Amino acid sequence: MSGKIIFATGNAGKMKEIRMIMADMGMEIISMKEAGISVEIEENGSSYEENAMIKARAVAACTENIVMADDSGLEVDALGGEPGIYSARYLGEDTPYSIKNADIIKRLEGVADEDRTARFVCAIAAILPDGSELSVRAAIEGRIGYEEKGDNGFGFDPIFYVPMFGRTTAELTEEEKNQVSHRGKALELMKEELKRHENSGC
Ligand code: IMP
Repeated sequence: MSGKIIFATGNAGKMKEIRMIMADMGMEIISMKEAGISVEIEENGSSYEENAMIKARAVAACTENIVMADDSGLEVDALGGEPGIYSARYLGEDTPYSIKNADIIKRLEGVADEDRTARFVCAIAAILPDGSELSVRAAIEGRIGYEEKGDNGFGFDPIFYVPMFGRTTAELTEEEKNQVSHRGKALELMKEELKRHENSGC
């Protein structure tokens, strides 16, 4: 495959991860801002998949290139799956994550280790120049910690503990996180979908 992929996100933390994971595709990955596209997108879907497709369609209307978008979130089982698809808006979009993370830890006060299960989920949508729409989803299972740990990553990473590593995703190197993360796995699935589509001759 050649050409550009426009990624419909304004989140710099996500963009950095996406560029690393997609580096082997031999395509230029650019953000919508870098592509000069600024559309107001209302994420009013009722699932990660719907929201990802809403973002991708809005940007695809402005370009002939491949467009991808992701929608992701943190699901905390003891909070009935909150914040889920509302993760970016939890306690307000502009509230610092130190406050959001402290709030989640506070809400889990008294909740035992084994009941602090949580997952990051990521859906990715792609729209190809021929109009085809592709969609994938992946998740990473973990637990909510008792305090913020680590300086890497973004968002809820400092409180998301990955049992396999014995560290939070904010304590993992970029390479470690990308190998096991919801976004890393979803992007790998999307690469396979793109190859399958290309090989089908459509
Ligand atoms: P989106 O931009 O609507 O997909 O919102 C995703 C939100 O989910 C982010 O703003 C974070 O709050 C949270 N989130 C998703 N993926 C991650 C991650 O890899 N680390 C930490 N927080 C994440």
